[in-house]
Amino acid sequence: MGDGSRLGRGVYYKCYNEVKMQETNTYKNLKDLPRTNSPEYIVLHHTGGTQADPNADTSHHTANGVEKQHLSQGWEGIGYHYFIEKNGTIWKGRPEHRHGAHVKEGGINKKSIGTCLAGNFTVEGRKPTDEQKNALAGLIRDIRGKYSIPIEKIQPHRAFLGTPPYKDCPGDQLSDDWVQKLLIPEENLNMVSVPRKLLEELTQYL
Ligand SMILES: [Zn+2]
Repeated sequence: MGDGSRLGRGVYYKCYNEVKMQETNTYKNLKDLPRTNSPEYIVLHHTGGTQADPNADTSHHTANGVEKQHLSQGWEGIGYHYFIEKNGTIWKGRPEHRHGAHVKEGGINKKSIGTCLAGNFTVEGRKPTDEQKNALAGLIRDIRGKYSIPIEKIQPHRAFLGTPPYKDCPGDQLSDDWVQKLLIPEENLNMVSVPRKLLEELTQYL
């Protein structure tokens, strides 16, 4: 069975492997606390440069490393709800029902899901890996389904920083609609996404 094909009557399907996630200590520590977040937006971040070098390549940064850094700032855990490492591994950070610490402006921390890709996409030629793109697309598909988030409410961090933005997060190598475009094949091509396991089960009966 291939990865995607025409299903008939102009409907296409695309298989995806079910998203595997790891849990940070932040997730474990906060998951039973009451709701403080009502997601309306999905916000994308990158790890960006370091203080010493704004052009540093941070694509090897890990969820555990960023968690440690945020804890050392006195925060209650990693600031994002999801962190996607270079190899595509998704880490659960803050539980979705808890507020994040990733966009100060406009109370967005209490009405969004914050996602972060490891990497510094400010530097020309640096882009997320295919593994990160696939993981992010799958993750956003799940989140949008859960909270009915329209595509225009999936935004880069810099969209919330006023004019002109004082940060370029998630890097100017990623356009404002980069995530939206990542999802477009499914929006426009009558594409249905089917978990591979389910498709394999269903096609037994065809
Ligand atoms: Zn950011």
